[in-house]
Amino acid sequence: MRETIPAARRLNVDWFNLTRKKLVQLTKDETGRSYRPSDFEKFLYSLESGPLDVLATGLRADGGRRARTYANMTIWVGHPYLPPSPFGAITIGHVVFVAAEHTYNRALLAHEYIHVIQQEHRGLLQLDRYFTEAALELLAGRQHAGPGNREEALGYLWESYVQAYKAENGPWCEFRPTDGNVPGECG
Ligand SMILES: [Zn+2]
Repeated sequence: MRETIPAARRLNVDWFNLTRKKLVQLTKDETGRSYRPSDFEKFLYSLESGPLDVLATGLRADGGRRARTYANMTIWVGHPYLPPSPFGAITIGHVVFVAAEHTYNRALLAHEYIHVIQQEHRGLLQLDRYFTEAALELLAGRQHAGPGNREEALGYLWESYVQAYKAENGPWCEFRPTDGNVPGECG
């Protein structure tokens, strides 16, 4: 994937020596979120991401259907305007609005899961961080949602990791799929 090396560079890591362990540590450092949150932390995260979940619920009412359910993430397909073209997916709170052809794209879902946990830990503040990075990228003449956007870089790394190593273990762990479509996954 052409975003892989720029994403690694953005986060000051060496892609060719990136183990799962290092990637998990990087995920903790970048998102500030526990990899295996306690019940109390989960409660705090639900408060943080609450407003975004309310927004997502409102948007879901415009159309589409639930395609898959993870314990911590709902995959919604067939929405009339989300994700906006040409994007494959967009994450709002715990809902991933995905283009139909990507419903089972595990690498892309790994990327989107990073946005879920970013928003869990920072809530609305995450949008602020995201759009600040996006604006800087645009000013630099690059794509706003490319790997130069630090809030995207980690997602691209996980996407590449799952793709390159056919990894069963995405960035999710305690939040396993609950709909039976995908085998349980936890490192
Ligand atoms: Zn992304």
